[in-house]
Amino acid sequence: MTQVREIKCPNCGEWTMWQGDIDDRCLFCGGFLESRQFSREIEKKVTKQLQQEDDYLYVGPGDGTMKQWFKRSLNRVRWVVILLQIAFFIFVSAMLVLISLLPG
Ligand SMILES: [Zn+2]
Repeated sequence: MTQVREIKCPNCGEWTMWQGDIDDRCLFCGGFLESRQFSREIEKKVTKQLQQEDDYLYVGPGDGTMKQWFKRSLNRVRWVVILLQIAFFIFVSAMLVLISLLPG
């Protein structure tokens, strides 16, 4: 059941063929279409956020006990947020796959 659709490339804006696979690339610029593009955006965002917060939440040897405790607590909250983002991303990806499998 291969379904070819015409979609607008998120990279260059040209209309291109999409078979519903996440590995499909644009005929014009060679960029990945929809799903992959979406996952890359999230990946980029999470990585950037991690780098920023690593600098900010780095527990230095000069930090006091309270400061260390506070930073460690924030680190834990941060990981919960990241896990939620990943869970959300997996959920949305699964939805996209389901939608692309549906006829019409
Ligand atoms: Zn393109």
